[in-house]
Amino acid sequence: MRNRIAILSLIYVLFFIFSACSTIETVPVETEKFAMGTFIIQRIYSDDAENISNKVIERIKKIEEDMTINKQGGEINSLNGSAGKGYVNLSQDTLYVLAEALRISEASNGAFDVTVGPLVKAWGVSDKNPIVPLDNDIKNLLNLVNYKDLQINMNESKAKLNKEGQIVDVGGIAKGYATDEALDIYRENGVKSALISLGGNVAALGCKPDGSYWRIGIRNPRGAEGSYIGVVSVKDQSVVSSGDYERNFEKDGIMYHHIIDPETGYPAKSGLIATTIVSDISIEADALSTTVFVLGLDKGMEFIEGLDGVEAVFITEDKKIYITKGLKDKFKIEDESKEFEYVEKG
Ligand code: AMP
Ligand code: MG
Repeated sequence: MRNRIAILSLIYVLFFIFSACSTIETVPVETEKFAMGTFIIQRIYSDDAENISNKVIERIKKIEEDMTINKQGGEINSLNGSAGKGYVNLSQDTLYVLAEALRISEASNGAFDVTVGPLVKAWGVSDKNPIVPLDNDIKNLLNLVNYKDLQINMNESKAKLNKEGQIVDVGGIAKGYATDEALDIYRENGVKSALISLGGNVAALGCKPDGSYWRIGIRNPRGAEGSYIGVVSVKDQSVVSSGDYERNFEKDGIMYHHIIDPETGYPAKSGLIATTIVSDISIEADALSTTVFVLGLDKGMEFIEGLDGVEAVFITEDKKIYITKGLKDKFKIEDESKEFEYVEKG
């Protein structure tokens, strides 16, 4: 018995030694620049922070160029332009993003579908003049949405879309990739502590300079920007949110948002208004936050509980908050509006 207590105490002490962060004494530099359709805020603790933040922005702009379907040029546009015609040579970066998007499309049985582009274009939620497409048009476009038609050949660095008119849209995953790349640049430049935010994508490198965990706010989906319903404490992790509040428009009293259910062709009506994923890898967190928004609470919870090292927060339209089991010690409700209710599941 005494031995067991001694071993447990040792594990406890080791856990704290290995999980604690050391303190850093540099003054942070905070920068804010616009790219990928959002403000990118970086807080970097390094004597060379300004320079490093510029390197990150340069890298993110390059990723944007390759991934966008809203401007001309770039690799994803060339893949889409050759839909139904044959293979296109692509860079390792683009192939990696496509392969990750395809992996999550498969794992979610198409709730996340990287070929959702024709529907995204038809709705134009992010455009100047969004419209509610005709029901018949939506039905026709649904024939073009099928991730199984995206073929990737990693060995020969090429990919293709089987049918003419098909469109790959990596809008639900590209910011996560950009975030991972930013974290790599921080590490390569010897940064031990930093925070980056690209709209709903936040990632922490290391701990806060005082050695404590970063506290990342979860946005109140029905409140103003900057209002929160809770906080997750993390180190070396990404906290990525999706929500109907991010991009939407109203027509005849109905609000339409930017996350499309590939089964119906309409903005997902899963009963959720916001989702957050906490994970070590930002690209995965990004794709999964979009995925569970489509899946809804029950299926989304089951899906995430089946994955290792991934946690989630779900907010329902009746203002209830649910979290996965692994988040219990990391999530704290801090809801100034007092409109949200935390519900413990299971
Ligand atoms: P996020 O803000 O990361 O949740 O991503 C939303 C974006 O992902 C949209 O603006 C679309 O570009 C794209 N998207 C919408 N619906 C889906 C879907 N079901 N699967 C994959 N991507 C989607
Ligand atoms: Mg996403």
